[in-house]
Amino acid sequence: MNDTADAAVPDSGTPDLDALIVGAGFAGLYLLHRLRGAGFRARVYEAGGGVGGTWYWNRYPGARCDVESLSYSYQFDEALQQEWEWTERYAVQPEILRYANHVADRFALWPDMQFDTRVAAAHWDADGLWRVRLEAEGRAPETVTARFCIMATGCLSTANLPDIPGRNSFRGATYHTGRWPHEEVDFTGLRVAVIGTGSSAIQSIPAIAKQAAQLTVFQRTANYSVPAQNRPLDPAEVAAVKADYRGLREEAKTRFGCFVVDLPRPSALADSPEQRVAEFERRWQTGGLTFMASYEDLLYDAEANETAAEFVRAKIRATVRDPETARTLMPTNVIGCKRLCVDTGYFETYNRPNVRLIDINEQPISEITGSGVAVEGEEIAADAIVFATGFDAMTGSLKRIDIRGRGGLPLRDAWEAGPRTYLGLAVNGFPNLFTITGPGSPSVLTNMMPSIEQHVEWVSDCIEALRDRGATVIEAERAAQDDWVGHVNELADASLRSTCSSWYVGANVPGKPRVFMPYIGGYPAYAARCAEIAAAGYEGFAIR
Ligand code: NAP
Repeated sequence: MNDTADAAVPDSGTPDLDALIVGAGFAGLYLLHRLRGAGFRARVYEAGGGVGGTWYWNRYPGARCDVESLSYSYQFDEALQQEWEWTERYAVQPEILRYANHVADRFALWPDMQFDTRVAAAHWDADGLWRVRLEAEGRAPETVTARFCIMATGCLSTANLPDIPGRNSFRGATYHTGRWPHEEVDFTGLRVAVIGTGSSAIQSIPAIAKQAAQLTVFQRTANYSVPAQNRPLDPAEVAAVKADYRGLREEAKTRFGCFVVDLPRPSALADSPEQRVAEFERRWQTGGLTFMASYEDLLYDAEANETAAEFVRAKIRATVRDPETARTLMPTNVIGCKRLCVDTGYFETYNRPNVRLIDINEQPISEITGSGVAVEGEEIAADAIVFATGFDAMTGSLKRIDIRGRGGLPLRDAWEAGPRTYLGLAVNGFPNLFTITGPGSPSVLTNMMPSIEQHVEWVSDCIEALRDRGATVIEAERAAQDDWVGHVNELADASLRSTCSSWYVGANVPGKPRVFMPYIGGYPAYAARCAEIAAAGYEGFAIR
């Protein structure tokens, strides 16, 4: 840690808060609990009307987590993880939201959280404080000062709504999966159009198809999906996990994605075709994200990857009765390059007589009309349109806030060519600003809950360390940040994951710079590096 960098900051007096936290998702809740416990005056501001973050907004039919519930939960409090009862292998959105509310109740977080309040701007002032402008409907904007500003804004929170001509002329109802209404949406008897075939679409399409009179899916890129094989949790399995919950958590921390699946075999190409198919079939039957862990080289060797891709295509061919629809559903890109989807009855849904698939590469959408979606050669009538078109991932929520650092530098300008961070936690030029699971950290490539906990603990330990030594300002050094960005890019370049037009590289948002955003080296290497940096007195940070 470098105590001498930069000029001294004038005494700033007492701010309204020691730490201002943006967002009441799982990161914001734990930050509040942890910082309050360490004696800091912390407060959460949240744009939504309740806790839960992504699980507050993503209420679309079929929404469920595809990391297993016993692992997708906090581990910081043993009593909490012992008392909470998950009902299914993969929890549905309402159950995860109940869990978030339970946590807020259990740790009495409510008095220090303010809802329906958007953080519109955060400016670092010469006096060494963040001045944060809050906006709430029906109230005059308010400014709060804080020593630290912590962005717990989530990686997938800013909806991507494509600018399709005529979008606003549609007379029926429109929805975005990531901004689903709180009241129940009933599609019974309606003609529904779904645009997109990512994880949200793949979860919601089977549910919508059961209600709708007619469902038309508009696909731009076919996606790989594996069955969830969801089921109610067996009490004996839960008891076994709870008898040694810590053991499961510790083992998870040694795994790339911070959740436990069967260890991969070394190389798909070293196995015979029969052995490979047997291994893929075993993982397929197990269900979920374990499929991509079949072999170590699936994301590093194109030929190995193709064996897994072809296995999934064969499953689609065997499931979907209409050969033309099956062909359209078969992805041709690298499997795992876009986030692998996990489904319950997705491909089977295309065997229903009320479901139709349109490949918009063959029949491009020309416009949305008052009464439906016009593609080349025909207009598809619709009473409702569901945009399952994803998010301005990882940077969208941060760039939407007018964040200005030292010398008034806007974060939007600093990140014009793509996000640059040190560890995905801090940004040069933006003192006392932390980003939880920010770009440059493993985040979306891992189980988000332990990755959130690791960041929250690192940040709160860091703020405590500053207090202990009487320091008030910490900032990532430019050289350390440059080295980290270089390291993140180098790892990404070696992987097949960076080779396609995914949201990991920002390709889904027109005009967004194409940079592989998450750190691809896995949780264990990343967490070890963060710990080393802290143990070395916050190496790569200037502190004063
Ligand atoms: P997504 O993966 O980005 O999928 C968006 C879909 O919309 C893609 O099929 C995309 O096509 C399509 N699209 C975007 N713009 C379009 C346009 N202008 N015209 C036509 N199609 C367009 O978004 P998502 O499904 O919401 O999922 C985002 C991420 O959230 C997931 O990858 C996952 O990490 C997370 N998630 C997790 C769960 C879970 O835990 N179960 C559930 C849902 C989401 P292209 O592929 O061609 O861009």
